Formats: sequence, structure tokens, C-alpha cells
Amino acid sequence: MDTAGRIRRKVDVSRGHHLWTGSKDAFGNGQMRINGKLTTVRRVVWELHHGPLTSNHRVDVTCGESSCVRSAHLSVSETNSRTTSKQPAGKQHRVQHRKGAGNMRERRPGVWELTATAGKYSDGTSRRMYRTVHADGAVTAAAELASFVSSFAVNRVSRRGICGA
Ligand SMILES: [Zn+2]
Repeated sequence: MDTAGRIRRKVDVSRGHHLWTGSKDAFGNGQMRINGKLTTVRRVVWELHHGPLTSNHRVDVTCGESSCVRSAHLSVSETNSRTTSKQPAGKQHRVQHRKGAGNMRERRPGVWELTATAGKYSDGTSRRMYRTVHADGAVTAAAELASFVSSFAVNRVSRRGICGA
């Protein structure tokens, strides 16, 4: 028996709908196996009438009967998987990016304040170290910063408050 015949055999057409009497999922949506793959009957009916759908397509019922599979009572919509998988906020990414990194800024000509962030305390606050260096320019300051950050990474200080601002 073909698919359309299998469906016809399991629908109740007595009330103007095509109510599915076969197996249903937890939401009352009719489901059936096509070539061993479980799918919704609505989807199968839609494809029989209108052609193949992609996995981004969703077939909904418009008449309010969740088990209805009458093609005239179905509508198809396209879901956008890109919006559903969108990451919540950039905060976590920024923290990861800055992990173990350093910042520097020129306090006054030739004097640079270096800030190194390395790890977190047990209460979740970032562990920061500060150092003021004399440097004749941004390149020298960046070299100082790199050495500050790396020395800091090697000589890990486990107790809080040793090198606070
Ligand atoms: Zn219906």
C-alpha cells in the first residue's frame, strides 16, 4: 500500500477534519514511519500534496485540532536555525579572550601602567596585577607588558591580595 493509502486508512473524516487515529507523539501530533524514519503525518501529507520540504520547514495545523492531517488545514513555515542557535551575550567570550592577557595605558609621557589579568579568585572575581614602568614608547611598553604577563603566569601567587592595586 502506498503512503497516501496508509494515511487514508487511519484518518477519521467524519467531522470535516482528517483526524489521525494512528500513533501520536506527546503533543497529540500524528506520527508515522516513512522508510523507517519517524516523522509527523502532517509533514507527510503536506509533501504528498505540495512536494518535498527541507528540515528547516515546519508544518503546523491551522484548525486547532492537533491530530488533524487534512491538507487544507495545514500551513508550512520556515524556521531559521541561525536565530535559535544564537549565543546569549558576548560577555563570556570577552572573558575568555582576556584570560591571561594584559592591558597597558600611558599615565603620563614615558610612564605606563600595566595591568595583567590571570585567572580568577575562588569568589569569581578576576585576579589583576598592576605595574608601573618607564618606557619611551608603546613598543617598549608592550614588551614590558609581555614580560610582566609571562613572569606573572610562571610565578603563580595563590593567595589573594599580595599584589593588589
Ligand atoms: Zn482540521
